Amino acid sequence: RKAADRYLKREVLGEGTYGVVYKAIDTKSGQVVAIKKIRLGKQKEGVNFTALREIKLLKELKDPSVIELIECFPHKGNLHLVFEFMETDLEAVIRDRNIFLSPADIKSYIQMTLKGLAFCHKKWVLHRDMKPNNLLIGPDGQLKLADFGLARIFGSPDRRFTHQVFARWYRAPELLFGAKQYGPGVDVWAAACIFAELLLRRPFLQGNSDIDQLGKIFAAFGTPKPSQWHDMVYLPDYVEYQYVPGQSFKTLFPTATDDCLDLLSKMFTYDPKARISAQQALEHRYFSSGPPPTEPALLPRPP
Ligand code: ADP
Repeated sequence: RKAADRYLKREVLGEGTYGVVYKAIDTKSGQVVAIKKIRLGKQKEGVNFTALREIKLLKELKDPSVIELIECFPHKGNLHLVFEFMETDLEAVIRDRNIFLSPADIKSYIQMTLKGLAFCHKKWVLHRDMKPNNLLIGPDGQLKLADFGLARIFGSPDRRFTHQVFARWYRAPELLFGAKQYGPGVDVWAAACIFAELLLRRPFLQGNSDIDQLGKIFAAFGTPKPSQWHDMVYLPDYVEYQYVPGQSFKTLFPTATDDCLDLLSKMFTYDPKARISAQQALEHRYFSSGPPPTEPALLPRPP
């Protein structure tokens, strides 16, 4: 029997980076799932083979803070990825003007985000496309990272689909300078942007091109000096920017506590080698000092 026959397709949930996402029912278990249909590009055969093998590895990534990939199967020239169904996402929470986020709520959301990152980074898997609508929220309030590892398997989304502009706002400076070799630090930078967005309730650095994005980053934190980030000048797309001094973290995030600002500054470190890791961030005193993070089930969510 074909795997595709097992799922009863319901409505379209949305159009994502790689293709359409459907709500569906697993007729075998009764479970509600989300099926991501991935259009396979020109080199169908090659992608199909490599993608399937790599996706097998993603199925092993099981953690409460990562969306479970239940299964994957090819069907009519598309690859279908079956995920657990999630009610809403962090973008909807941030955008909802009726939702008040307390410091404890913000701590809880960012802690769950970092837990997901730390888990995947420990397994040498990078996300590369972190943004608030990739942080899905389940019925129990648990936040889970979606699309882990897909960027590496299917190629950088922004290069394939131009409508993907939002991811730029979460892109680390080494990626904007064209780094080909990069590490888990790119996800930590994105998590810092999401952290900032939870505090400000708007996307923090909204560049309208890659150059403008770097300009926005430098205007906030100051142009990096080579003494601060030694490898910067060797990056493929490095260009010298006019020096700007940047602002203090206290000015950028007036409502944040000192512990919060200290962690933010360590996540927003220019040199990826000096940037705090997700695991180290979880061990930062911001999480052990008061107030304790809100229980997931008690977090505010859109209706
Ligand atoms: P993008 O590539 O832009 O991040 P996705 O492909 O992840 O978008 O998702 C497209 C749409 O499908 C979004 O509206 C998202 O909310 C929804 N979606 C994705 N995964 C799930 C899921 N596991 N449960 C419920 N909805 C989902």
